[in-house]
Amino acid sequence: MRTLVIVGAGPRATGLLERIAANTAELLPPASPLSIHLVDPYPPGGGRIWRRDQSPLLRMNSMAEDVTMFTDERSTLEGPVRPGPSLAEWATRQEEFAPYREVADPAVRAELRTLAPTDFPTRRAQSAYLDWVFRRAVADLPPHVTVTVHRDTVRRIDGPADGPQTVHLGDRTLTADHVALTLGHLDSAPHPRHAADAGFAARHGRFHLPPAYSADAAAQLDRIAPGEQVVLRGLGLAAVDLVVLLTEGRGGRFEPTGEGDALRYRPSGREPVLHLGSRRGVPYHSKTGYRLQGPPAPLPRYFDAAAVDAVLATEGPLRLRRDFWPLMAKEIAFGHYHELFHAHPGRTALPWTEFLARYDRHGWHTPELAALIAEAVPDPADWIDFERLDRPLASLELGSAEELQAHLRGYVAADADRRADPAHSADLGAFLALLSLFGRLPRVTASGRLTARSVAEDLDEWFLGYFNFLASGPPGFRLRQLLALSEAGVVRFLGAGVRVERDEATGTWRAHGTTVPGHTVTATALVEAYLPKHALARTLDPVLRDLHRTGRIVEEVVDDPDHTHCSGLVAIAADGRLLDPSLGGAPHPRRTALGPHTSLRAAAAFARPRTDAPGFRQNDAAARALLRALAALPSAPALAA
Ligand SMILES: Cc1cc2nc3c(=O)[nH]c(=O)nc-3n(C[C@H](O)[C@H](O)[C@H](O)COP(=O)(O)OP(=O)(O)OC[C@H]3O[C@@H](n4cnc5c(N)ncnc54)[C@H](O)[C@@H]3O)c2cc1C
Repeated sequence: MRTLVIVGAGPRATGLLERIAANTAELLPPASPLSIHLVDPYPPGGGRIWRRDQSPLLRMNSMAEDVTMFTDERSTLEGPVRPGPSLAEWATRQEEFAPYREVADPAVRAELRTLAPTDFPTRRAQSAYLDWVFRRAVADLPPHVTVTVHRDTVRRIDGPADGPQTVHLGDRTLTADHVALTLGHLDSAPHPRHAADAGFAARHGRFHLPPAYSADAAAQLDRIAPGEQVVLRGLGLAAVDLVVLLTEGRGGRFEPTGEGDALRYRPSGREPVLHLGSRRGVPYHSKTGYRLQGPPAPLPRYFDAAAVDAVLATEGPLRLRRDFWPLMAKEIAFGHYHELFHAHPGRTALPWTEFLARYDRHGWHTPELAALIAEAVPDPADWIDFERLDRPLASLELGSAEELQAHLRGYVAADADRRADPAHSADLGAFLALLSLFGRLPRVTASGRLTARSVAEDLDEWFLGYFNFLASGPPGFRLRQLLALSEAGVVRFLGAGVRVERDEATGTWRAHGTTVPGHTVTATALVEAYLPKHALARTLDPVLRDLHRTGRIVEEVVDDPDHTHCSGLVAIAADGRLLDPSLGGAPHPRRTALGPHTSLRAAAAFARPRTDAPGFRQNDAAARALLRALAALPSAPALAA
């Protein structure tokens, strides 16, 4: 009997299991039985982030039809494609998909029954889908592969490079031929930056929330008093979740005003006053609420494997923004203009084929390309402008806080309107092309050719942040809610370039931005309204902490004579195996890691149907490598109690 222990049973582990089921027939003969043990303190399928036990107010920022756990005809994999329903398809036709089991929660059951493909489901609904996907993956395994679930935490792994691994749970050990770590989103001890605010809060009896996963943060928010002045640093998804929990979650209600999609907020009186600010000063762009109006663009066209390899073949150190971004930008703009020309030809002045032939010839930043766009797309509002999108408040200075509130409300309303209006479907074309970049980015990072500073500043800080801002924002109705809260005075905007200082004399935080010079807000609570960024050196995960302490894993460090960048990620080889310093930095033959905590830097999002999602390729490659390694073992130890 071979044994595989998978640590972490969230979406990634579930996807891995699905791929193991798909590939077993080819790679693991019935003569080689396999026992798989999944360990997670949270229920398998959803795991920690997608557990059922969280507020029903928390939603996905994906439409139900854009979430799938199954490969399709567009997937390019070595293993077999095994189609299955998206969340939207499963929700309304659950009885058709074995193994059927009625969803226990009546509210989730009712939501699923009426879920429209373009709805943004609750996280609880996605939890139910993941639970079913997990059960289906288990059911799809052949009889010689069995699965045992342990609701426990793995604390330690030891064992030689060439022999069985001992996996220590809370009250038992498992012996494994191979261990896969699909640990996902993890916690670290506070960054020194946050430790100072935490200490300040403790000294003055104030409330400070470090970066947290919303489902976990909910309980702590009770310590914020009604009417209390709170600064929220961050305007992304975590901020949206926290605002919802502190308003609707405290009994407030949103109701339609009768004017379009606009909402009015009826406070409960238990809300604090929420001051929202960030570097950009505006909320992430709303998700689009419609479908492509034209045919999908054939991606990739400019940032494809050949183009990436051509850049990699040049001499000398490379920088993402200088050497790859022109190709990436041209790809995103291709998605934008492809949709504009096909779906809204009345707003273009050249035939698409002519535009494309000339677009092909010029680099992104060239005057020729700018001239072509100006000639072919008469209205500048239809051009894609990456700089304006990135810093919408850049160089804006307003005279008063009230002017700022009005300006921000105008900005947010315009964004929500635009993203709901299929006349602007070029935005969705650009979004899909942006998403497609993640198919080639791992090739760039794995090459080791980017300078350390470029990995730190261009990739980890700028590009991934910009991606989240453009593509990972809230559904449109959340922006309407934000507007209603702003109208009601519950939410106040701080503007761009926000800085928060501690005032020891008064025990308060003082926040000010650059948009209204001289304007300062005083608060008695500070909330870091963004998701935690895991750092291996400060990890709170017991198994990673132990492996790191004993020198069996290493943080990804990119360095060159100019800069040293410690990314906080666990360093893995291209095939997913953990790089082990005690083996001279070679991959550990028996230990694999997959997911957002690793140096692979995959997009941490669910796959969209028919986009050849890289996550499926990674899961497939990992499953095949695991099965091959397990099949190659002469014999394997039995499970120890
Ligand atoms: C708050 C939030 C909201 C998101 N919303 C969306 C969305 O709307 N749409 C979208 O496309 N993507 C979304 N994402 C991104 C995507 O869904 C996540 O990246 C996904 O959860 C990743 O799955 P995972 O299995 O890699 O990690 P996780 O979901 O974090 O699962 C990892 C599991 O490992 C377990 N684990 C960790 N350490 C141990 C240990 N030592 N022993 C045992 N078990 C352990 C954890 O308990 C957890 O259950 C969101 C992410 C977050 C954090």
